Amino acid sequence: MNILLEKLKFTQFNVFPELIHAVSPRCFENDHGKIEEFSFQGNDESGDDKDHIKYFLESIGIENRSLFLVNQVHGDNIFILNNSDITSGEVKKISADALLTQMPGKPIGIFTADCIPVLVYDPRLKVIGAIHAGRKGSEQGIVLKVVREMIRVYGSRPAELVAGFGPAIGGCCYEVGEDCIQPFKELFPNEKNLFRSGLSGNYFLDLVAVNKVDGIKAGLLPVNIFSMDHCTCCSTRNLFSYRREGKTGRILTTIMLRP
Ligand SMILES: [Zn+2]
Repeated sequence: MNILLEKLKFTQFNVFPELIHAVSPRCFENDHGKIEEFSFQGNDESGDDKDHIKYFLESIGIENRSLFLVNQVHGDNIFILNNSDITSGEVKKISADALLTQMPGKPIGIFTADCIPVLVYDPRLKVIGAIHAGRKGSEQGIVLKVVREMIRVYGSRPAELVAGFGPAIGGCCYEVGEDCIQPFKELFPNEKNLFRSGLSGNYFLDLVAVNKVDGIKAGLLPVNIFSMDHCTCCSTRNLFSYRREGKTGRILTTIMLRP
């Protein structure tokens, strides 16, 4: 099994050898030499394709480990993985849009297709987090809430945290109505660069910019916030995009502390 495209990684995370992380590309070459698209959830929500998750994890050096995913619902619940007895199947039923853990050897992941997959890391306390930040989660300040939870649960210091924003729909492509812009005008009244006017009264919303501001509001240093800057909708890397394709696959973004 070969991954066709270079896996997307945050080069800034290379200074943390204790971490394994990656964002899945669209395709891989299967054992018969055929090109296949990753289908982690099934394109028609017919169910999980555990083999593809396993292939992808193996390709980044994570073997024989269950991936911890939550039932993503565009909310702001944060699941803390701190019990070694809980199974990935049990966690999958929990409705949440972010996971945090300090447990080594437990990969956590987030599915997206235009929403932003965000990875956070506390290098001092060795806490990892994975966040699903779409428009609705961003409205609810999910990045800020995750940072607050890291402070409350683990004693993190925001200025020490690093955050990586994976591929998401960019301000180039994310056209929305005024109703979608209003919450961000209210949340960040002094920010002028979170959206721009388009034709016919619509706007182009820059969700990555919104979440960077949210991270800074939470106390992260701008220098510690990294973005891959690949638009899922127009990227030449051909990532899954809900806006471009409608029914489509999902990008898997995962992170694990080495055991
Ligand atoms: Zn774009």
